[in-house]
Amino acid sequence: MARRKKIYEGKAKTLYEGPEPGTIVQYFKDDATAFNAEKHDVIEGKGVLNNILSEFFMQGLGQIGVPTHFLKRLNMREQLVRSCEIIPLEVIVRNHAAGSICKRLGLEEGTQLPRPIVEYCYKDDALGDPLVTEEHIAAFGWASQQDMDDILSLALRVNDFMSGVMLAVGIKLVDFKIEIGRIYDGDFQRLVVADEISPDSCRLWDLKTGQKLDKDVFRRDLGSLTDAYTEVARRLGVMPNNPPAPGKPTLVN
Ligand code: C5P
Repeated sequence: MARRKKIYEGKAKTLYEGPEPGTIVQYFKDDATAFNAEKHDVIEGKGVLNNILSEFFMQGLGQIGVPTHFLKRLNMREQLVRSCEIIPLEVIVRNHAAGSICKRLGLEEGTQLPRPIVEYCYKDDALGDPLVTEEHIAAFGWASQQDMDDILSLALRVNDFMSGVMLAVGIKLVDFKIEIGRIYDGDFQRLVVADEISPDSCRLWDLKTGQKLDKDVFRRDLGSLTDAYTEVARRLGVMPNNPPAPGKPTLVN
């Protein structure tokens, strides 16, 4: 049996060479990490839920014309995506105050922000992904001005889409993080939403009760993370028929 070539192993996903040139297989692991990997656990079924939820969000974005790297889901834990060059920025959009912005600006958790606020962090685990300004991004050449205009527009479109989808199932989209990739088509490049969109990278609160249905459940020891993610998947109508079961990477022909 041929072994697939591993390209990269991250905290929550492993990337393998895809079956066609220019494709990659994203394998969703059950590992959960927080506080720059200081806290770590393996949560059975998390990878299955994130794979299915990310498929749902990426497909929906594609349907409204927001380009993404997503091609298709292969099985319960893997999806095929277009290979792209990841811009070294975490693009965060906030609708309500939570997490790091509360600490930084002394805001009370849950405060509605006057408008969606877009922030950029430099992707570097060793540095703890520090917040950076557009001045840093331009000076260090991480992205051009045109890229930044496109990234802002993508981030706000994702925010509108995700806010609407979640509101329809009684969930408030507090904030989220996306990553952006460059895809080269001959001499041209275009930017796409890459990586994943899942409760690992969003803050999701029940509209009525305020119950947290995202990775803060793990960060703050608030109960079962699988139950929270299952609730999101159930409300969106994407619960897998069989309950999530742990699995090993499988070979793709
Ligand atoms: O921690 P902070 O409040 O800055 O996070 C904002 C949003 O970005 C949260 O939804 C969080 O889950 C997400 N995030 C992420 N990966 C990081 C940092 C933040 O998905 N490395």
